[in-house]
Amino acid sequence: MHLTVRCEAAGANCPHCGAWSEAFHSSYERNLGDLPIAGRRAIIDLRVRRFRCYQPECPRKTFVEQAPIFAERYAHRTRRLRSLLEDIGLALGGRPGSRHCTRLAIPTSRTTLLRMVRALPERSISTPTVLGVDEFALRRGRRYGTILVDAEAHHIVDLLEDPSADALVEWLSNHPGAKVICRDRDGVYASAARRGAPDALQVADRWHLVHNLADALERFAVRVLAALRKELKAEEFTDGAPPPELPLPVAPGRLIARNAERHDEIHELMAHRLTVSAIARRVRLDRKTVRRFANAEVAADLLGPRGRRATALDAYLPYLARRWREGQHVAAFLFDEVRQQGYRGSKRTVRRQLTGWRVAEPPPPAHAMLPGPRTLAWLLLRRPSDLDEKEQILLKQLYERSPELVCARQLAQHFLRLVRERRGRELDDWVADVHSAGPPELRGFSRNLQHDWAAVHAGLTERWSSGCVEGNVNKVKVTKRQMFGRARFDLLRKRVLLAN
Ligand SMILES: [Zn+2]
Repeated sequence: MHLTVRCEAAGANCPHCGAWSEAFHSSYERNLGDLPIAGRRAIIDLRVRRFRCYQPECPRKTFVEQAPIFAERYAHRTRRLRSLLEDIGLALGGRPGSRHCTRLAIPTSRTTLLRMVRALPERSISTPTVLGVDEFALRRGRRYGTILVDAEAHHIVDLLEDPSADALVEWLSNHPGAKVICRDRDGVYASAARRGAPDALQVADRWHLVHNLADALERFAVRVLAALRKELKAEEFTDGAPPPELPLPVAPGRLIARNAERHDEIHELMAHRLTVSAIARRVRLDRKTVRRFANAEVAADLLGPRGRRATALDAYLPYLARRWREGQHVAAFLFDEVRQQGYRGSKRTVRRQLTGWRVAEPPPPAHAMLPGPRTLAWLLLRRPSDLDEKEQILLKQLYERSPELVCARQLAQHFLRLVRERRGRELDDWVADVHSAGPPELRGFSRNLQHDWAAVHAGLTERWSSGCVEGNVNKVKVTKRQMFGRARFDLLRKRVLLAN
């Protein structure tokens, strides 16, 4: 859809000297893309005139009239279309943005959208009073950057491509004014914050504190579990684990007896080289049944696992059960083993027996039921009221075997209370408790706290935390995903900062 537009004024001001001129020289048409009309692509055909400038001292001989309310000089789009495209580019990125534009009847290429986003002016960065600092993944596991967050207003302040301490120091000296800096525990950012903003209050992030505690507990769990496993294995060796439940051999019933008779009869007829059809006629059974009898080496093989009474395998079951407990679960191997001992039944019978054990899942030995170190660490960290019945029972059983676990759990829970309720003044007591009675892993953790004591204390006392960084890291992640990992850093930063 084309709209023809022209200016009504009789003349225009010379852009160089500002003098008014109505001396018409020539005219031409500018084509400006505009917002769609009734779902159709719209183009404004703007007729512009060229005027002469007669001011003797003005070097401009002619000039073209401008329509600044429509579009900038040389632009191919109206202002309102450009600002819509910039919004789309910021919100959706290149390729999805371009698809969306096609649907809106304002077709625009991916590269054009991205160029427009790149050309957007930077928003001036005001340093927040409470600054949260953390890292975020540019390429998961490979490249990291630094994210800076306003910890009070919960929005992203800036992204740094370089995750080093030096880059943060530089940023802090270019943007002075942060009164409080929440950062990780005594890592890269801690040292950078001390150098870049020596006057700011350093706050060790509570989330990182808990994370470090979890790491220490996991190391503790590895050690305790290894000892428990050894202990339990030794006990199992002396006790002898209970065998999988064995089906008791039962005296053959009527069905068994009849089957055995039939089996003998059919096999005798087979020995006389009668065909299956001939046998079927003779014993008055259908051919399928006869074939089943013919294929079974012994009558007992004919009974299903449920209807089973006695099988040729029964005599070998104790042996099989022992081998099963020892870890041999392969039917083919076990079949070979019992055959060497005189078993004359089929391999299928052995297989069927093992399937029963597999399905019934004989209880695994106790040492295999211990949780993994990570699971145990989280069991120790979780609030007692959050544990389900199974977890409580498991913990209770473990406590009985390892008093060290009881102590570690008490200390961990106490530390979490300090964090949750910000009772920093009790931190000294906690450290003293750990050093008098705690396991070595927790002693290591508390020694680490002492290296960064003031910030840890602040983290457990002040209300600030960079906990909101997590949420903002996720925002960056979403934007990054939209860019299909092809995000160049400058574009990612612009989209994140301006879309916020
Ligand atoms: Zn002029």
